[in-house]
Amino acid sequence: MYREKNDLTGRVAFITGGGRGIGLASAEALAEAGARVIIADRDPGLLEQGRAALAAKGHDADAVLLDVTRSDEVERAAADCDARHGAVDILVVNAGIALPDHGAEDMPDEAWLRVIDVNLHGAFWCCRAFGRAMLGRGHGAIVTMGSMSGLISNRPQRQAHYNSSKAAVHHMTRSLAGEWAGRGVRVNAVAPTYVDTPMSAHSFDDPGLYPVWMENTPMGRPARGDEIASAVLFLASDAASAVTGTVLTVDCGYTIW
Ligand code: NDP
Repeated sequence: MYREKNDLTGRVAFITGGGRGIGLASAEALAEAGARVIIADRDPGLLEQGRAALAAKGHDADAVLLDVTRSDEVERAAADCDARHGAVDILVVNAGIALPDHGAEDMPDEAWLRVIDVNLHGAFWCCRAFGRAMLGRGHGAIVTMGSMSGLISNRPQRQAHYNSSKAAVHHMTRSLAGEWAGRGVRVNAVAPTYVDTPMSAHSFDDPGLYPVWMENTPMGRPARGDEIASAVLFLASDAASAVTGTVLTVDCGYTIW
């Protein structure tokens, strides 16, 4: 029974920001569990790299060029995927950005708006378009990518825009979960700690940040992409059939202290 619950054979999964980092690791996890995966990203070169990385591990992925801040593009991608693949059963809302640290008192409008636009608006456009189709079919699983920074303000960084966007993603996740729970669609979030990806690489090299993070982490290390992907896989699968509206923290203990 438990093997079946984790088996995604016959399911179709769409992963935003799937060209690299945590999105690519999630695509690999879902593909390994049997899902047909579609990776979406805004850069064609990155998409090709992602596809090649999956192919090297024996997974044949589809790729879609998509900027999640464009609600019209998101609507079109959802309709195209339904037409080409029959249905999208699993949506991983992973695309996100972080900008350099900036004191809130001098935060430029553009920085605030950009981060909120990608991380929150983009996430909502995706949930709305793919969620609507899932509701029409009466089943589906959505996993959003939050952050431990949506739970804490995360000293010593100055990331009011990023932290606020991720807290909003958590609450959006719980709101949609509540609306859709009786209609067959589960919505959950994963809240990772630091993972060494292109997004965070510069912070890993910063002597003013990395040692402080590790000092504040009970397990004394960052997480790996595959460890975040395991949580995505669990929430996307029938192993989590009674789980909705949860924010699953995968943070090596960071938020304990
Ligand atoms: P990466 O930068 O490695 O990957 C993010 C991907 O999303 C990139 O391919 C990026 O493309 C893409 N993307 C960005 N903006 C858009 C957009 N408008 N439309 C479509 N795709 C877009 O970052 P991670 O893998 O580290 O991050 C993945 C998610 O995990 C994010 O939501 C992030 O906030 C979250 N997270 C990451 C943590 C970490 O420490 N790494 C910790 C906690 C949460 P492009 O290169 O063109 O920008």
